Amino acid sequence: MKIALIAHDKLKNQMIELCKQFEDTLRLHELYATGTTGTLIIANTSLKVTLLKSGPLGGDQQVGSMIADNLLDLVIFLRDPLTSQPHEPDISALLRLCDVTKTPLATNISSARIMLHYVGEIEKIGLYNPK
Ligand code: PGA
Repeated sequence: MKIALIAHDKLKNQMIELCKQFEDTLRLHELYATGTTGTLIIANTSLKVTLLKSGPLGGDQQVGSMIADNLLDLVIFLRDPLTSQPHEPDISALLRLCDVTKTPLATNISSARIMLHYVGEIEKIGLYNPK
């Protein structure tokens, strides 16, 4: 599976904890992340991550482009709704494209845990086809 990982600044620690918790599952997949999120994941886990640009510099649009091309199987975007983001239009566009393409999307740590748990389970029984 191709999985994109994005976290807003106040939630980057949660993303690192999530990646540590599901490291064994995530290492079996192709991971993409926006610049700062991905750099922190690489520094704090043994996961390999393809780094895109930082969110405010176009990383969210790069992820959006991958979604539009149906290249991603899962997006985990730990979004901070309480802090205004300079690149809000890019974020809204990305979320919208997930719905357009029916790409599974988790926008908080609880839904992210459920989805990654599911990914681990379907792997065990050799079944994967979420769309
Ligand atoms: P970052 O981008 O991982 O480069 O901080 C995430 C975002 O702000 O959308």
